[in-house]
Amino acid sequence: MISVHDHTGLNALARRCRVDPFLVRRFRTAFHKKQFTAADALKELPSEALPLFSREVDFHPLTLATRQDSQADGATKLLFRTRTGELIESVILRIASGRTSLCVSTQAGCAAACAFCATGTLGLSRNLGAAEILDQVTQANLLLQPEGRQVRNLVFMGMGEPFHNEAELFRALDLLAAPEGLHLDPRRMLVSTVGIPDAMVRAAKRFPRLRLALSLHSARADVRERLIPVARRHSLGALREALLQAAALQGELPMIEYLLLRDVNDTAADVLALGEFLRGMKAHINLIPYNAIHGPAPFGATDPARRAEFAAALREQGFTVTTRYSLGADIAAACGQLARVTAGQTPPPIPATA
Ligand code: SF4
Repeated sequence: MISVHDHTGLNALARRCRVDPFLVRRFRTAFHKKQFTAADALKELPSEALPLFSREVDFHPLTLATRQDSQADGATKLLFRTRTGELIESVILRIASGRTSLCVSTQAGCAAACAFCATGTLGLSRNLGAAEILDQVTQANLLLQPEGRQVRNLVFMGMGEPFHNEAELFRALDLLAAPEGLHLDPRRMLVSTVGIPDAMVRAAKRFPRLRLALSLHSARADVRERLIPVARRHSLGALREALLQAAALQGELPMIEYLLLRDVNDTAADVLALGEFLRGMKAHINLIPYNAIHGPAPFGATDPARRAEFAAALREQGFTVTTRYSLGADIAAACGQLARVTAGQTPPPIPATA
């Protein structure tokens, strides 16, 4: 079958049944930009082309298994089943400003095994294909259509380390930006990585407008390696070099994400190490309060007073510091909480942190 996102394949199909290219463009616009269902988009084609397009075009490689709407904020967690049976999650984020973002997954599970992350407890099932990455956006748009909303911003912060699936990630980014498809501005897409230096530089080179974020979480090698096991393979020095190269290619430094964990990476020594690591860089540090994952919480959250001190100490050194308040904590959709929940099953309660 031909993916509805494969524009070359669709053009070849159209030539086979001699469809006017104008009508193929109308079909694409209806599906990708006007949030038409597959059945309605097909009506834009001449009737003689319908059997072939219905049979040969793959509109949805994912099946929506469940949706959970937050009672506390504007988050909706979508649980999808792949054709090979894996369950993956995406999160719609209705931001108070009116923007709509989608947090997408790039892998079913994740091999990175970060100590603070629910997905990391699952191990890796497999990489997602580009069509599966894009279908998360298409299906979110279909659900948002009755609300008059459309996904405007994409964050690659769902299940998986995006750069462990680099080829399909890059294909998906190309297709997302394609004028024939969703035509999303790469400035509205942000790829967050635990730090694969070579891949960060390749991404910055190939997508100069793409936004990158490095989940640093500590500038002390021993602490970072405890939190992010893959850090053992990529030194802080290599990461610093990758940040500088990405900044030279893109004109701005990747955002630095820093998950605050009580007494683990929020001490005065951590501020010093972070300042030293980022010395000479115009860094934007995004502090992330910890969200407890299912089961016994392995870490505690930094209390707000210490978080404020931590931020102030970094600002004094000239860095821009913001705090990310995740949506969807009540439905286990906040940062670090995505873990496969079987369709129809209520997610386990989230343990409280101090
Ligand atoms: S934080 Fe990201 S890279 Fe680390 S285990 Fe979770 S999904 Fe994987």
